[in-house]
Amino acid sequence: MKAPTRPLRDRPDPQALRAVVEGLSARFGERLSTAEAVRAQHAATVTWVPPQPPDAVVFPRTTEEVAAIVRLCAEHRVPVVPFGTGSSLEGHVNAPCGGVCVDLGRMDAILRVNAEDLDCVVEPGVTRTRLNAHLRDQGLFFPIDPGYDASLGGMVACRASGTNAVRYGTMRENVVALTAVVPSGEIVHTASRARKSSAGYDLTRLLVGSEGTLGVITEITLRLQGIPEAISGGVCPFPSVRAACEATILTIQSGIPVARIELLDAAQVAACNAYSKLALEEAPTLFVEFHGSEAGVREQAERFGEIARECGGGSFAWATEAESRTRLWQARHDAYWAALARRPGAKGVSTDVCVPISRLADCVEETSADMAQAGIVATILGHVGDGNFHVLPLVDTADPDEVARVHGFIERLIARALSMEGTCTGEHGIGQGKMHFLEEEHGAPAVELMRVIKRAIDPHDIMNPGKVLVP
Ligand SMILES: Cc1cc2nc3c(=O)[nH]c(=O)nc-3n(C[C@H](O)[C@H](O)[C@H](O)COP(=O)(O)OP(=O)(O)OC[C@H]3O[C@@H](n4cnc5c(N)ncnc54)[C@H](O)[C@@H]3O)c2cc1C
Repeated sequence: MKAPTRPLRDRPDPQALRAVVEGLSARFGERLSTAEAVRAQHAATVTWVPPQPPDAVVFPRTTEEVAAIVRLCAEHRVPVVPFGTGSSLEGHVNAPCGGVCVDLGRMDAILRVNAEDLDCVVEPGVTRTRLNAHLRDQGLFFPIDPGYDASLGGMVACRASGTNAVRYGTMRENVVALTAVVPSGEIVHTASRARKSSAGYDLTRLLVGSEGTLGVITEITLRLQGIPEAISGGVCPFPSVRAACEATILTIQSGIPVARIELLDAAQVAACNAYSKLALEEAPTLFVEFHGSEAGVREQAERFGEIARECGGGSFAWATEAESRTRLWQARHDAYWAALARRPGAKGVSTDVCVPISRLADCVEETSADMAQAGIVATILGHVGDGNFHVLPLVDTADPDEVARVHGFIERLIARALSMEGTCTGEHGIGQGKMHFLEEEHGAPAVELMRVIKRAIDPHDIMNPGKVLVP
């Protein structure tokens, strides 16, 4: 990971930090911890970004409590690092400047389900699977499904997506309104529950993807979907990653409203077979799913089958019963752990890029060749219907030569995606790990405008400093 080009803000003055910890301790009692183990649990742990624990962790239960924490930290210029479930992949929850981690896990109420409006209001600590378990009886679901049971607050903050995004969009399209505590400690409501509005600046979209750098999200209004009448899907092997990507491109360009279309390269299929006890052919494979009426789903599947055959795809294995479908998609969601199990002791470095769909095959094929040439142990998998794919190098971090090769590979991967008018991250975000790519992607004037916004909202740089950009 490269150091940011500008120096980070200083750590807080020790006296100021003491005043904050004493103030929080007096108000929150055992809900404030400075124990080393608790602080360590609240640093980045899922990838090779080195952990940087906060000085203290506090567990609020209400928006007003969050506001009180932020006001106290603002008064003493002490950093505030919001925390959901800590599954972000680019060092997002690290505390490079120290400060107080605000763990939103105890704000986990599902406040309202407005079935007639297809929306709901939740606290940020609710996880995506808990929300869906709650909604199932009402025939509703929330489609965004990162491969981890992340908190909805963290998913808003990272502008997350998942396997269903090709049909239902990302968090950007599915957040209706937010309540947030901004760095001054004020509580702000960004929008009403109306599905559309032309009233003023879009503060909701400003906060979606802000990675905790502009405020702490304390309430979220989300769009919901009706559970489709019919769902069908299955898996189809291909002779090469290019062929699988070409089938994906044609599917999207033909306007087939596929709900999920996921690529796993041969190494990832082998890993899933071993980890999830599947018996798939070890070839580049597309996992697909169609949603709609019985007739609609049949037609979509037939059209996809024709495209797959045209691209040299093998026989399509259907998973019609809910149970076998769930097993397949659970295996897809467990792909990260399956890959890790292939190289015990190695660290997984999950990185993602996204390109316009017409460039997908070129980008994946070149990346696959680069991986082989550089001798990197990695798998490729991705939400390819959006042009988004992940590469998961498995790295022996004790081997400096291997670490350097993986760094070089990631730099080339991102340069390749940017040269194809893509992005350095389709869904994981910038965090600490990708700060140096922001200017390359957006250009200096756009990043300077982002800095102006950050400085205006957070003049003392207390909100998750050292992430996204240095103001
Ligand atoms: C196995 C695995 C698979 C994954 N698959 C996907 C995937 O398919 N798609 C995808 O998009 N991501 C994926 N991720 C990444 C991760 O799950 C997402 O980034 C997720 O959105 C993070 O949520 P979290 O609750 O863990 O947030 P955290 O990691 O706790 O926090 C993430 C960021 O959000 C901020 N934040 C958290 N809560 C709040 C809040 N209430 N208010 C303001 N800021 C807040 C934090 O400060 C931090 O900057 C995967 C991760 C793993 C480990």
